[in-house]
Amino acid sequence: AKKAGRSCFRFYTTAIQEKAARHLQLVNALRVALEQQQLSIHYQPQLSMADGRLVGAEALLRWAHPELGHISPAEFIPVAEDCGLILPLGEWVLRHAVRQARQWREQGLELVMAVNLSAVQFRQPDLPALVARILQEEGLPASALELELTEGVAMYDPQQAIAVMNALHEQGVRMSIDDFGTGYSSLNLLKQFRVYKLKIDQSFVRDIVTDPEDRAIVAAIIDMAENLGLLTIAEGVETGEQLSWLRAQGCDELQGYLFSRPLPAAAFAAYAQQHQPA
Ligand code: C2E
Ligand code: CA
Ligand code: CA
Ligand code: CA
Repeated sequence: AKKAGRSCFRFYTTAIQEKAARHLQLVNALRVALEQQQLSIHYQPQLSMADGRLVGAEALLRWAHPELGHISPAEFIPVAEDCGLILPLGEWVLRHAVRQARQWREQGLELVMAVNLSAVQFRQPDLPALVARILQEEGLPASALELELTEGVAMYDPQQAIAVMNALHEQGVRMSIDDFGTGYSSLNLLKQFRVYKLKIDQSFVRDIVTDPEDRAIVAAIIDMAENLGLLTIAEGVETGEQLSWLRAQGCDELQGYLFSRPLPAAAFAAYAQQHQPA
């Protein structure tokens, strides 16, 4: 038993060491990635339920490392948050997504550009000034930008978060709550925060056709949003059955593989051409 315990322990420490090594490797690689333009942005269509029109795009960061290959944002965003690199990284995404939205506008494609914001970025008191500067320099109206926040923004310092949100709201920037329903303080947030849209998390959407509990949760979120005057968007919509149920329930917008995967800018523009009335 003693022997087994020790080898188990060794296995455990090895796993931790490997994780730490990968973490360090990613931190160093991320620094280089920013300088060497290994990053790009894919855009996923957001559609209106009412008429199927393309109304928005979510900007999703992509990283192609020359040796490590494609690394998922689900892995490297937390690393970037730990080491502070999320600030230059987040600014890069914001600037390039805003620039892309402005270019599409010039080509007659008007949509809201949704950019994910880390709670760490949201903790910076100068975030509203940074957003204002980027919008101004890139020439995009504030109403064409949406910031997707997670419920974690309020965990560190709620008063500061409210102040930042008020300032962004004054500027005319829209804010939505991402992964709604998965955090700790969803309902509290709604009362104090100036959000205009809830993104129903894909973990609820996945099983709405078969799971009565997920169905009850999504139905409650949609009802509540309607009563509060907020819009709802379902993410992770993959099937026609999910779509029909969400339509019957009164969900406002849709995003998911059923319509399109996140696409490089050129492919997104081609998709838009096919999905906009002439
Ligand atoms: P998220 O914000 O919840 O983004 C939605 C994720 O679901 C994306 O994964 C998207 O590709 C994926 N997705 C979209 N439709 C479907 C579907 O129908 N089925 C399934 N199974 N998945 C779908 P992705 O691009 O790998 O991003 C993962 C997470 O990384 C994001 O989750 C977000 O939290 C984070 N992230 C990505 N880009 C950024 C960024 O620029 N800044 C920050 N702070 N976080 C980002
Ligand atoms: Ca998001
Ligand atoms: Ca989400
Ligand atoms: Ca999610």
